[in-house]
Amino acid sequence: SEHLLEVKDLKKYFPIKRGFFRHTVGHVKAVDGVSFTVNTGETLGIVGESGCGKSTMGRMVMRVLEPTDGSIVFNGQNITDMSPSSLRKLRKDFQMIFQDPYSSLNQKMTIRDLIAEPFHIHGVQLSKSEVDNEVVKLLETVGLRAMDRFRHPHEFSGGQRQRIGIARALALNPRLIVADEAVSALDVSIQSQILNLMTDLRRQYNLSYIFISHNLAVVKHISDRVGVMYLGNLVEIATKQSLFQKPLHPYTEALLSAAPQPKRNVSRDRIVLQGDVPSPANPPQGCPFHTRCPKAFDRCRQERPVLKEVTAGHQVACFLYE
Ligand code: SF4
Ligand code: MG
Repeated sequence: SEHLLEVKDLKKYFPIKRGFFRHTVGHVKAVDGVSFTVNTGETLGIVGESGCGKSTMGRMVMRVLEPTDGSIVFNGQNITDMSPSSLRKLRKDFQMIFQDPYSSLNQKMTIRDLIAEPFHIHGVQLSKSEVDNEVVKLLETVGLRAMDRFRHPHEFSGGQRQRIGIARALALNPRLIVADEAVSALDVSIQSQILNLMTDLRRQYNLSYIFISHNLAVVKHISDRVGVMYLGNLVEIATKQSLFQKPLHPYTEALLSAAPQPKRNVSRDRIVLQGDVPSPANPPQGCPFHTRCPKAFDRCRQERPVLKEVTAGHQVACFLYE
């Protein structure tokens, strides 16, 4: 297969348990049937508001969370039901980068030990001096100094700590990195430094990224293609250019209209959505967006639209395009 990653109809339903006997009384449909692909060397951005299921989706792709249903094919291998021992061998191929590198880094460890930890976890046989060489190389790759390996995380700024997090993720030479709100805690100027670093590393290592963020500007900066999630569903996916220039889904249109415009002369009219996002424990019948969609019609309340290609590479789940 030409795709590095192929996700089909992925679902995560968390049971809601009540009462003394902890009976299951319902399900939170955190991810409700998401399909997409990622190519080698590509960055797929996933954008959506908090609670839309994007982090849950990312954790399932990393296989740190069991899917309820659907399939994940990585590099031609179906990893959905793979045994823990087979999965262990594949683990180094995918890594994750999180939002707050300060809290995710153990304060007592030196930078050297933090970056070398993945070698130990994955039983990579290296001598002390080989580990040291690797750590120095990784630090320099992410723009830090060799001497930094003897320091501790609290001695670094937020941006530097994210560089350490990236060095750690790179240690095992992964093929796919899932970055979940990786720059959201950083100042805007530092954000673009980290995004540029990640873009350089992608070329250098032929990496693929799934870049998850609530921030449209950040996703626009780094992505080749962008998927939009709403209430556990992927409602639109397209190349960055196509999505930002010709958004098709009414939810994407509203999201883009609310984002600050870099050039005033291309400002869109702001679309203000009515009401709140429904609870994923009780999602609406039909189109998940129909309760807030300014363009909803009868069919939307009865049937659920599926992703369909409207123009080359531009897919949308909306009855307006059928
Ligand atoms: Fe709106 Fe209907 Fe399209 Fe859903 S299917 S986004 S409710 S027009
Ligand atoms: Mg999240």
